[in-house]
Amino acid sequence: MITPLYSVELFPPKTAEGMAKLKLEISQLNTLNPAYFSVTYGAGGSTREGTLDTVNWLRELNIDTAPHLACIGSTREQVRELLTHYQTLGIKRLVALRGDMPSGMGAGERGNFHYANELVQFVRTEFSDAFSIEVAAYPEYHPQSSNPARDFENFKRKVDAGADGAITQYFYNADAYFAFVTNCQRSGINIPIIPGIMPITNYTQLARFSDTCGAEIPRWIRRQLEGFGDDVESIRAFGHEVVLNLCQQLIAGGAPGLHFYTMNQSAPIVRLWTELHLPTK
Ligand code: FAD
Repeated sequence: MITPLYSVELFPPKTAEGMAKLKLEISQLNTLNPAYFSVTYGAGGSTREGTLDTVNWLRELNIDTAPHLACIGSTREQVRELLTHYQTLGIKRLVALRGDMPSGMGAGERGNFHYANELVQFVRTEFSDAFSIEVAAYPEYHPQSSNPARDFENFKRKVDAGADGAITQYFYNADAYFAFVTNCQRSGINIPIIPGIMPITNYTQLARFSDTCGAEIPRWIRRQLEGFGDDVESIRAFGHEVVLNLCQQLIAGGAPGLHFYTMNQSAPIVRLWTELHLPTK
């Protein structure tokens, strides 16, 4: 029986004011005792400084931290340097991704990696087992995949290259997650597949994200959220019930943990965590 992993994800703020606010949110989230805090990284190194500042701050507080590393647009040397730095900070876990090419970046700036499986392979070759590696999984399929079977084969490449676990893109349909896990079991993939959980607090922002990342907002949820218009309180109350219910279904169905996309807001996560009776400090 593996211990379930409950983790939280942050993104690096762009301003000093954002960083000051994030520190307050981190102190609230840290009372929950998450297994680790992950910190996103912009492909092509576009958030490199912000990611490093956030990771450094978490490590100063001695918090288990998993930096994301999106390899597209980076050279082997840049990745090696970053990972060597992470080793000196005592980091033991990474989230290894391809990322998306920042707009305006030309084909000549793609760097040395094409897909995330190449990054996983690189980390294993150069750093052996120094890092536990999480990769991304897409129960509703990656938006660029030409067909589901090929997308699943590509997911398996990352596992075969040495991934220790996977975190899913967010979804609101638990069946998509359970079907993906069944597919993994049938294909001999035994790593934990941790559902990524996106709280619902802002419909416009969620709809925009979902369009680009290929996550479906089921019609009944979308219609309800649209119906609330600018009534933020009703959006939050309904969104909380939907996500709480989703998490309960996932836990009851045997999900090996939950990874919360916090959007740098602690309050919705603290409320979910408490009502789900997840372990805390
Ligand atoms: P891959 O696994 O490489 O897959 C990308 C696409 O290429 C898929 O369509 C796949 O089917 C196809 N493919 C994969 N391998 C091959 C191959 N060998 N040959 C042919 N086709 C292939 N983005 C960021 O920029 N920064 C972040 O910090 C970040 N964090 C994320 C965290 C999680 C948990 C998730 C789910 C996503 C995150 N993303 C992040 C978004 C992610 O970078 C994008 O979804 C990106 O488009 C794909 O990254 P990937 O690692 O899944 O790519």
